[in-house]
Amino acid sequence: MNLWFTEKQTKAFGITAKVKNVLHTETTPFQQLDMIETEEFGNMLLLDGMVMTSERDEFVYHEMIAHVPLFTHPHPKKVLVVGGGDGGTVKQVLKHPSVEKVVQVEIDAKVVEYSKMFLPEIASAYDDDRAELIIGDGFMHILNSENEYDIILIDSTEPVGPAANLFTKGFYAGIFKALKEDGIFVAQTDNPWFKADLIRNAIKDTREYFSVTRLYTCNIPTYPSGMWTFTLGSKRHDPIAVSKDTITDVDSSYYTADIHHASFVLPKFVQDLL
Ligand code: SAM
Repeated sequence: MNLWFTEKQTKAFGITAKVKNVLHTETTPFQQLDMIETEEFGNMLLLDGMVMTSERDEFVYHEMIAHVPLFTHPHPKKVLVVGGGDGGTVKQVLKHPSVEKVVQVEIDAKVVEYSKMFLPEIASAYDDDRAELIIGDGFMHILNSENEYDIILIDSTEPVGPAANLFTKGFYAGIFKALKEDGIFVAQTDNPWFKADLIRNAIKDTREYFSVTRLYTCNIPTYPSGMWTFTLGSKRHDPIAVSKDTITDVDSSYYTADIHHASFVLPKFVQDLL
């Protein structure tokens, strides 16, 4: 078989992987779901033709979306994950012993079902007693929550289809209301090469509500441009003021105390977006 998958990032540029096997393909009520086996990165989840995660490099994204805010908050007990149906974010959150409960609101049950089947290492924490999975719209869940969560993680798809609402100003206002008085949120905000406007808007909207607004980055080979950003909004605790001594070993492969701080050091062209 000489099959290659390409995610087009612009009309003239894409990222390509050689496919060993097509494991599953289905149009769910929300999106096109494909699970493929690639030669370089193992099994890979695609939604609407975009790479969501792969077995080989998932740890970067999932560790960075979870550990940066969870080590910034002094006592994170209740965490909300919006999206994240592959299970990787919940798995990393549950590595923190202070966490008593993680609620995940994923709109598409099929993403969870096929992640459990084909990405079992990533989707391995769903049976934990502290994890609660709600199949529903994260936007509505946030709007109906008040003063409830220490940490909110927006592990969503790009702002099209079911995720379009998750990048609106009203959503950031909702996140602010849903967080406790010293709460922190992190949202994945794509890459600065092809999605500069998305980052600019996320930072601008976060600043309207949160006294601490930061952008941090990591490197993910299977994501567009390889450089990924997260936008963090915090009511009180500043991630760059965290003492390295309070960052304990968390069984990670990317995140360290040094990476925590280094990830906030931005190249000039990314700083300029802020
Ligand atoms: N790590 C990925 C990335 O940045 O490419 C995203 C992971 S993917 C598992 C994101 C998930 O968000 C998908 O499973 C999708 O179904 C879910 N999602 C999209 N819109 C949503 C919404 N409004 N509420 C809850 N989940 C949503």
